Amino acid sequence: MIIASNFKTNHTRSSTHEYMQKLDTFVRESGSAQRVMVFPPATALDRFDTAEQITTGVQNAYPVEKGSFTGEIGLEQIDEFGLKTILIGHSERRHIFGETQALCAKKYAFFQEQGFEIVYCIGEPREVREQGIEAVVDYNFAQLEGIDLSYEKLIVAYEPVWAIGTGLSASVEQIDETMTHLRKKIKAPLLYGGSVKPANTEEILKIADCDGVLVGTASWDVEAFCEMIAIADKLG
Ligand code: PEP
Repeated sequence: MIIASNFKTNHTRSSTHEYMQKLDTFVRESGSAQRVMVFPPATALDRFDTAEQITTGVQNAYPVEKGSFTGEIGLEQIDEFGLKTILIGHSERRHIFGETQALCAKKYAFFQEQGFEIVYCIGEPREVREQGIEAVVDYNFAQLEGIDLSYEKLIVAYEPVWAIGTGLSASVEQIDETMTHLRKKIKAPLLYGGSVKPANTEEILKIADCDGVLVGTASWDVEAFCEMIAIADKLG
């Protein structure tokens, strides 16, 4: 399973170091078999001395090596830390910062070319969910436009926008039904994201097409994140 943490705009450089140390100790001492990913904010990126199964990634970057793009980071800043994993298409990038599908696809192509592992996020807003499963599937498929789904380093995160940061996860039935449809097009590992927490991790990880979770809020506390990793381990 893949158990991933998206820090968003949380944690400092020093608290991220503390977090990574605690996470590493837990993973080593528990003998966890999970693939663990952490996406700290850009200011806290570093080379962390962690177990091989823990990957550090970047939450966002502009698709350039370097240049005049105020406030953005590019390949040069990521390369400094030897990082090779990136999150693209997160709903907060799309809806708060206005990233279009064309820009997401451009970022995807750039980082694919650079051989990055890409966690590519898709997910429908509430008004689409209210229109029913057909609309949901169409909306999510539209977010795959321009994305090379045959890329071997692709991981897709299905994250319904209405479930992100709201404390209201999609139901097991909703996730199951949506992932079954997504699976027709997506062969890459499929993660679910949207108010995942220790209390609902087990039922979500048991969904047939679910290969892991991408967690925001609940993962900012390292103990809670380790708890979710332990739940995945228990499931085998
Ligand atoms: C996310 O931002 O990827 C996410 C799933 O957030 P939360 O767990 O807070 O809903």
